[in-house]
Amino acid sequence: MENFYYEQPVPIDFGVGKIKELPSILEKFKAQNILLISAPSMVRNGMAQKIMDAAKGKIKAIFSDIQPNPTVQNTDQCVKVLREHNCDFAVALGGGSILDCAKVACFVASTTNMTEVYFTKQQLISQKGIPFIAIPTTSGTASEITNVSVLTDTVHDIKAPLASDFLYPIYALIDPTLTVSCPQKVTASSGLDVIAHSLEAFYGKKHQPYTDMAAEYAAKLAFENLLIAYHEPDNLEARTKMSLASVTAGMAFNLTQTAAAHACSYPLTQNFGVPHGEACALTLPIFWILNSTGPEGKRLEEFSRRLGFEDAKDLANRIDEMKKEMRMRMTIEEAGVTTSEDLELLVANSFAPNMKNNPVEITPDLLEKLYKSISSIHS
Ligand SMILES: [Zn+2]
Repeated sequence: MENFYYEQPVPIDFGVGKIKELPSILEKFKAQNILLISAPSMVRNGMAQKIMDAAKGKIKAIFSDIQPNPTVQNTDQCVKVLREHNCDFAVALGGGSILDCAKVACFVASTTNMTEVYFTKQQLISQKGIPFIAIPTTSGTASEITNVSVLTDTVHDIKAPLASDFLYPIYALIDPTLTVSCPQKVTASSGLDVIAHSLEAFYGKKHQPYTDMAAEYAAKLAFENLLIAYHEPDNLEARTKMSLASVTAGMAFNLTQTAAAHACSYPLTQNFGVPHGEACALTLPIFWILNSTGPEGKRLEEFSRRLGFEDAKDLANRIDEMKKEMRMRMTIEEAGVTTSEDLELLVANSFAPNMKNNPVEITPDLLEKLYKSISSIHS
């Protein structure tokens, strides 16, 4: 019997209409000076104001100056607002970028430093920050239950994850109705991120029985419901299944971390501007096929068949069909990689630490070949 360790320290409160319970949850935590950290879209559609009104004066301000792929400057601004209002609690309402910004800002605000000390200078995060509730409005990153935040330092041109058990939200409130307003492109990209999290947690070197179980359930839900949610944004059942898929995939990859497709996604986003989930999905099928020939091959073939596919290749093809149907980028050229210099840069920047988590060892030469296999010139 193998040895493993599993934990998921964030309470998961899930259900349609759950957002209505937020005031009583805030009451339970005895929060007094709350900052609402949210997205500009949630301010525009009135949701932020609704939450403020329901909190009966306990939410002192809204901070929404956060861009997609949040920057160190965004977290520092948020830290300043948390300190200005002497906040003892925060509510983070938004997609992965908002939740990632909140995680780091709530910690940094409880210190005398700014973000750079922990992100660029890599001082250890060794204490609890300001507690916060995470409320996702997309189905993708599962940031509401993970201990990692991905930030971008635009000055030093770095996009990297910052992880610590002190970055966990204190509570995850997941209400699928909040994802109904999610634009079609975001639904597509974040849904593909869920599939990437599931498959990478399954083949990643750190997989274990409980993460396998979560990964398989999440993948099944996402394969069955993503296209429905994409074509019928108001279909609450499909939205609910995608919310469930997202958080369940989080229960897997929070322990296993991600692997090769995510490592490749960082430069595709940072250097070529491809949205996160879409960037992961660009290489996901080729890594699934490659890994099905490696040491985990038998497990991947069996997983594919249990999900109703003929074999691993059939599952990989299905991802490509879904990408096509949702008008996602299919080739490296469509992703903006058009010259040999671009390809060189892409290969060089694809070796984040999670690349080592892939069961088949990836060398720069092999990676170049893999990228060329999804080039429109060679295919
Ligand atoms: Zn991801």
